[in-house]
Amino acid sequence: MDLRYSESDQKFRAELRAWLRDAVPAHGDPPRGADWSERRDYDTAWQRKLYDAGYAGINWPKEFGGRDASLTEQLVYYEEVARARAPYVGVNFVGLLHGGPTLMAEGSPEQKERHIAPIIRGEQVWCQGFSEPGAGSDLAALSTRAELDGDAYVVSGHKIWTSFAQVADYCELLVRTDPNAPKHRGITWLAMSMDLPGIEIRPLPTLLGSGEFSEVFLENVRIPLECRVGAENDGWRITNVTLSFERGTAFASDMYQLQQSLRDLTALARRVTRDDASAWEDRALRREVGHLAAELDAIWAMVKYTVSEAGKTGVPGMTGSCIKLYYSELKQRLGEISMRLIGRAALARDDLDDLPSGEIVHSALQSLSLTIAAGSSQIQRNIISERILGLPREPR
Ligand SMILES: Cc1cc2nc3c(=O)[nH]c(=O)nc-3n(C[C@H](O)[C@H](O)[C@H](O)COP(=O)(O)OP(=O)(O)OC[C@H]3O[C@@H](n4cnc5c(N)ncnc54)[C@H](O)[C@@H]3O)c2cc1C
Repeated sequence: MDLRYSESDQKFRAELRAWLRDAVPAHGDPPRGADWSERRDYDTAWQRKLYDAGYAGINWPKEFGGRDASLTEQLVYYEEVARARAPYVGVNFVGLLHGGPTLMAEGSPEQKERHIAPIIRGEQVWCQGFSEPGAGSDLAALSTRAELDGDAYVVSGHKIWTSFAQVADYCELLVRTDPNAPKHRGITWLAMSMDLPGIEIRPLPTLLGSGEFSEVFLENVRIPLECRVGAENDGWRITNVTLSFERGTAFASDMYQLQQSLRDLTALARRVTRDDASAWEDRALRREVGHLAAELDAIWAMVKYTVSEAGKTGVPGMTGSCIKLYYSELKQRLGEISMRLIGRAALARDDLDDLPSGEIVHSALQSLSLTIAAGSSQIQRNIISERILGLPREPR
């Protein structure tokens, strides 16, 4: 696969850059704090602008309203969006980056019709109801029960860490439909409307002060049979499709953003002083930054490989786990270095004078969750060792 940028890629870059130059400042800054309905409005309005300008669903097929961009155009897109500091995908994350792609791969024609276009236009927000108090890393241990009753599943159980549940319209919900089958074989994937009777959402505060996730309690929720994606008890296979999108291509734009953050860090290090000298004079710091830059280059190459693999097969492969692992740990290291660089200002939650300390502290604290979300680092290492390197499986 040739990943060099062609003349037409560069033309695409120039058009996108020109559009972003006006559109990003016009959209304003994201709302700060815990008002999730404001966050939803901000994120979905940006998604609509992308859609109207023809840039939404960059890798989605044209028949679903996407741009069906070539692989190199997708990379250009991620680079330009990060360069322009365009709004983050935000509450659209689940729908756009793994719910929608799962439906495209596994949904019925009616399900595609019901969900895909509204997701890409920013009209339908999704959340992910996978984790439970007793099923996180061992996701297949989930116990939320679904029993078929006429034309609906009656679902009861307890989901936790459900990001964006408080503003979502739909949920990719995993339920147990056969409690007697081996645990991976009794699971079903449902598209649950979040306004059904019997759903209670309780937001969970985090150390950032604005919890993005909630607990979701389900009591005799009737989910129509037509909302089942794939066959009954075939949900584990579909879950793996969802997770491969979540851990693979979903991180591509974040990766490029990290390169931008590293450039910001370097610029800041040249500006702040330590004992009368610029912090950049510190060789140890320069060495750390140099290591990060080299490692980022390596992951970016891996992202290109994954995007290219997804282009060929429709689904990203196992390298998604490598990217997720490396990306989240690198981002934490970058956070630590940035906090050290700003010294005592890291005790503040707001910007101080001309120091972007509020943003640095927020980003460093937020990065702590990255090695847990979407499968912890330990689990990614298990996957890499067993499924990529072919090492012996851990005892079950
Ligand atoms: C910011 C954030 C957003 C999230 N959003 C969602 C969401 O929208 N929807 C959703 O369903 N879930 C979501 N999650 C949940 C996330 O998927 C789980 O937290 C994650 O899978 C870990 O599960 P757990 O918290 O139950 O930890 P546990 O599984 O209890 O793990 C505890 C510790 O034990 C380690 N461990 C467990 N098993 C093994 C093993 N076999 N080998 C080695 N070490 C092991 C883990 O690595 C971890 O360090 C989110 C989490 C975060 C942090």
